[in-house]
Amino acid sequence: MIAYEGIVLRHKEHMKQEIKSRIDNQSLQVIANSARRGESGMLDLLRRLVEQESPSNDKASVDRCMQIAALACQALDGSVKWHRQRHFANLLEARFGFGSQTRTLKPVLLLGHLDTVWPLGCLQSMPCRQAGGRIYGPGVLDMKAGVAMALSALAILREHNFFARPVILLLNSDEEVGSPVSRSTTESIAARCEAVFVLEPAQGLGGAYKTSRKGVGSYMVRVNGVAAHAGIDFASGHSAVVELAHQIARISAITDPARGITVNPGVCAGGTQSNVVAAEAWAEVDFRFIKASDAKKIERKFLQMRPIDKKCGLVVSGGVNRPPMERTRRGIELFAKAATLAGELGFELHEAATGGGSDGNFTSAIGIPTLDGMGAVGEGAHANHESVLIEHLVPRTALLAAMIATV
Ligand SMILES: [Zn+2]
Repeated sequence: MIAYEGIVLRHKEHMKQEIKSRIDNQSLQVIANSARRGESGMLDLLRRLVEQESPSNDKASVDRCMQIAALACQALDGSVKWHRQRHFANLLEARFGFGSQTRTLKPVLLLGHLDTVWPLGCLQSMPCRQAGGRIYGPGVLDMKAGVAMALSALAILREHNFFARPVILLLNSDEEVGSPVSRSTTESIAARCEAVFVLEPAQGLGGAYKTSRKGVGSYMVRVNGVAAHAGIDFASGHSAVVELAHQIARISAITDPARGITVNPGVCAGGTQSNVVAAEAWAEVDFRFIKASDAKKIERKFLQMRPIDKKCGLVVSGGVNRPPMERTRRGIELFAKAATLAGELGFELHEAATGGGSDGNFTSAIGIPTLDGMGAVGEGAHANHESVLIEHLVPRTALLAAMIATV
């Protein structure tokens, strides 16, 4: 049974077996030293990324943030390709190490996003600032620090020519709204890659890497009833609100904690006045699941919903948005390698599962080994106290570089 919702998994078995990391100790020391030297440059880039606000729905702002990252890529001899978008910011694809003798090998994909959930102007109430060993600011943890770490890791690899295979960095602009336009690009690039490293934040303050994520979907349930005066003509009314209440009870019963299935009618509304039998009501429902096979069963239950009051109409729309990132053998092997390298770099790395989705769900679902949570350690993603712990930035960057150098 896999524990979910942020509970760290402990797999003593691959801590015991010695996994060779294919990088000698001297090279690892070189990476660790370079990461330390690169800290101020990384912090400077992070501050510039955070100070350029980038809400998903504001193309011009996210495009400006992408430009900052593009210049940083070009400074490292990365070749930049734009995937142009009409409504969202352009997606940035940058390629590194393709000129070397490794060009014929499958690349590794570093996957991130530069959009945030924060509206324009929020820097005024939550400016980018450093205090108590942390950096605060909108999007600092989710995931501008992860992007700054990736560029710092690429600088290390370039400096010492440690590219074991080519690297593609893909930065999306619509992740926080479900990746509607970037999904196909992410999948087609990932399909040609050896492995995907996702720059999302690590799990909790313990900083675990994520080897599995739940799948995510949503439904809109709309009920049409028959309006009537609640005092004069109650009997001829058919309440959409009452019908929706019954349906919500049924929907909620799909939740199955043992299988990791949750169904949350998170928003609902209906009716106009308390003295009117409601003609309309609706609910927005989020659902999550561990196994792709469970998604079919959940979808069938929603699509088979019928009104209990036959005079009411019921319209259900929606479905799966992100397939689950299932815990695979190759994903566990990648984690095991990371845990070994972390040990050699002097810190302990744990593995976690989470109920939250990322673009890693897409790459994992098409069968590419995916390791997630390789970005910053911190807390408060999507909350006012969003922050990253500075002390973890350098060691995690060294680990990311070592993983790219050995995968
Ligand atoms: Zn994110």
